[in-house]
Amino acid sequence: MEIQAEGEPTLACHGECAACCRLRVAATAPEIFLLARFVSVNAAAFAERDVMLFKRIADADQAIGGLSEEQRMLVQYACPLIEGELCLAYKVRPLACRGHAAFDKALCVAAARGEAVETPVSASHLFVRSIVQNALMAALRRYGLAWGLYEVSGALNCALSAPDALERWISGQDPLARARIPDFNPVEAGAIFDAISV
Ligand code: SF4
Repeated sequence: MEIQAEGEPTLACHGECAACCRLRVAATAPEIFLLARFVSVNAAAFAERDVMLFKRIADADQAIGGLSEEQRMLVQYACPLIEGELCLAYKVRPLACRGHAAFDKALCVAAARGEAVETPVSASHLFVRSIVQNALMAALRRYGLAWGLYEVSGALNCALSAPDALERWISGQDPLARARIPDFNPVEAGAIFDAISV
């Protein structure tokens, strides 16, 4: 990322701003299972601080599951992993969260609220996120695993609600199917992967 972003202006994202965490986040199955593992391991410690992650995730799934990107922006429902504008799962946050990096905080906050403003964002972050995410999906597809993009709150709830979800995914089933992002087209994406594969 450092090499790719060489020469770019300084980013405005320095933590303690979760404006973009109120937008729809799309992630692959391995990213979802990594988050589910993080939640399972740390839920008791967070509960001691009155942060009930399992309930938060189930509530979020119920409130925003199935909403389009535009509807999600309108409701401004915060990601269940935010606490005090900080990401509780920062080290294991999805690629989509890592790939959104802005050069102007005020414009980014306004855009995340749905205002019609142009936000200067880092093309390098978007590019690297896209390369890594697409490579990951192409590999999953090649090895016969369920691939594609899932809405994070819904998929996380699916992964946490079924104790055998990971094993089912490894066996080729799709226990996260309910949370698939409907506007991601696997046929189109698969054709692109086939065209560029060697
Ligand atoms: S996972 Fe973390 S960075 Fe991503 S939307 Fe949720 S709180 Fe924000």
